[in-house]
Amino acid sequence: FISKEYHPVQSVVSKAGLGLFSSGGRVNATLMMLCRNSELDGVISSVRQIEDRFNHQHHYPWVFLNDEPFTDEFKKRVSILTQSEVKFGLIPEEDWKQPSWIDEKKAKKSRQDMKKQWVPYADNVAYRNMCRWNSGFFHKHELLLPYKYYWRIEPNVQYFCDIVNDPFQVMQRNGKTYGFTISLVEIPATVATLWEAVKEFMELYPQYIAKNNAMTFVSDNEGADYNFCHYWSNFEVADMDFYRGEAYTKFFEFLDSKGGFYYERWGDAPVHSIAVSILKTKSDVQYFRDIGYKHDNFGHCPSDGEWEKGRCSCDPQESFNKGGYSCTWGWVNLVH
Ligand code: GDP
Ligand code: MN
Repeated sequence: FISKEYHPVQSVVSKAGLGLFSSGGRVNATLMMLCRNSELDGVISSVRQIEDRFNHQHHYPWVFLNDEPFTDEFKKRVSILTQSEVKFGLIPEEDWKQPSWIDEKKAKKSRQDMKKQWVPYADNVAYRNMCRWNSGFFHKHELLLPYKYYWRIEPNVQYFCDIVNDPFQVMQRNGKTYGFTISLVEIPATVATLWEAVKEFMELYPQYIAKNNAMTFVSDNEGADYNFCHYWSNFEVADMDFYRGEAYTKFFEFLDSKGGFYYERWGDAPVHSIAVSILKTKSDVQYFRDIGYKHDNFGHCPSDGEWEKGRCSCDPQESFNKGGYSCTWGWVNLVH
């Protein structure tokens, strides 16, 4: 049910004349941010960095999405940061709520149990809506439909270096599906039965499983168990046609039917990562080693020539990818 007042497009701020000269080398792509009005300061900080380090030369459009309408102040203060077109959209209510068929008693019990185990966002239903939306819905939002590639950007992240190589060009030129900067291990309690569901899916739909896939990134024993590795999805550059396609759509619908987004706390990071690892081939994933990035306490700083070329403001010795909780070693071994 969609109320009469609902419209997914809140407003579009076009910049006069820009389309005339800037579309030349541009890929069909958008910078995308899901965020709340209350995060304005962090949104401005992230947008400012992306603009200064990258987008002032490219003018890729921005799409901001929210489960509540953006305020006029939010739209005004964000729009002046860029010369690009900026679009603000509202997420359909039915894409952002616990489905009615979920057994709330069971979901609540699990939230309480997770809280006892100190799992982050243990009893947070909004967080679960967000994870499910990022897993199965964002790529179908009206404002994102015109685009093939997106770059997911979050409030309050840090971009340390000039982004010398346009990530969208890299993806398109090499026919890549999914790009990451940091990979790590998931908290097991949030995905306790996810792998059982994945195995069931693989048995039911062998036609969707890619031959030369990256199973060894997500499993250390040929698919018997999940090793909890995933690409950290707060940074993502990926091809939405993958999510819009039959294989991923079936994969998401199958996982969703298990209720694990609410009975556990399945994240969009393991869902996207497992999907691209089994439904696509090894060579469909891009490691953006040259992008200096930090979210919360984990960051990646490029080293040597890439650090110099990017004029990076981070310490080149410091990269989460070099540590024990990273899965990037496994990824590198897999492709090389
Ligand atoms: P974390 O990175 O897993 O700790 O989670 P975050 O709190 O950073 O949320 C991930 C992304 O979703 C960020 O871009 C948030 O701004 C956004 N987000 C999370 N919850 C909500 C919500 O309830 N409403 C909206 N509009 N955005 C949200
Ligand atoms: Mn975050």
